[in-house]
Amino acid sequence: MTLLASAVHALSGLLDVLRVSPLYRSSPRYVLDQPDFLNLVVGGGTDLAPDELLDATQAIEAAHGRDRSKERHKGPRTLDIDLVLYGDRVIRSGRLTVPHPGLTERAFVLVPLLDLAPDMVHPETGRPLRDYSRAVEGQGIYLHGDGRLYSGPSGRA
Ligand code: ADP
Ligand code: MG
Repeated sequence: MTLLASAVHALSGLLDVLRVSPLYRSSPRYVLDQPDFLNLVVGGGTDLAPDELLDATQAIEAAHGRDRSKERHKGPRTLDIDLVLYGDRVIRSGRLTVPHPGLTERAFVLVPLLDLAPDMVHPETGRPLRDYSRAVEGQGIYLHGDGRLYSGPSGRA
C-alpha cells in the first residue's frame, strides 16, 4: 500500500463518512529544487475536538516516518496532514489556525476541496470557496494519473 493510501486508511479510523478527493500532483512552491508533491483532501465527521484531531493526525504523520527535526522548512517531507476546515469554526490558538491560511492561497488545497464540496462557503469571509479559484490559477496542479488513489489490483497509486 502506498504511503498516501495508508494515511487515508488511518484517517478513516478517525472520521465518519469519509470522503476522499481525487489525487493531484502539484509543483513545489517556495523551495523549488525538490520533486512534485501529491495532494488530496479528506473530509468527514468527528467527535474529536480540534486539538485532539491535530494530535491524532500528527501521530499518523509520525507513524509514516515524519520527523520534523530532520526537515528543511517547506522542503520534502514524507507526509503532511493539515486541518483545513473544522466545520464553520474559526480557531486561532498557539497550535492551530483554522481555516488553514493556505485554503484561499494554494491551488493544491482549494482545488481538491472544491471537488468534495463545490458549494462550501469560507467561514470567515462568507464567500463561496469557488470565488478564490481565480487567485490560484497557474499554480501548477494536475490530476495524478486518473486521480484515483487506488489504481488497479497492484494497489499502486
Ligand atoms: P506545514 O504544514 O506548515 O508545512 P508542519 O506540518 O510542520 O508545517 O506544521 C507546523 C505547525 O503548524 C504544527 O506544529 C501545528 O501546530 C501548526 N498548525 C497551525 N495550524 C494548523 C492547521 N490548521 N493544521 C495543521 N497544523 C497547523
Ligand atoms: Mg502541516
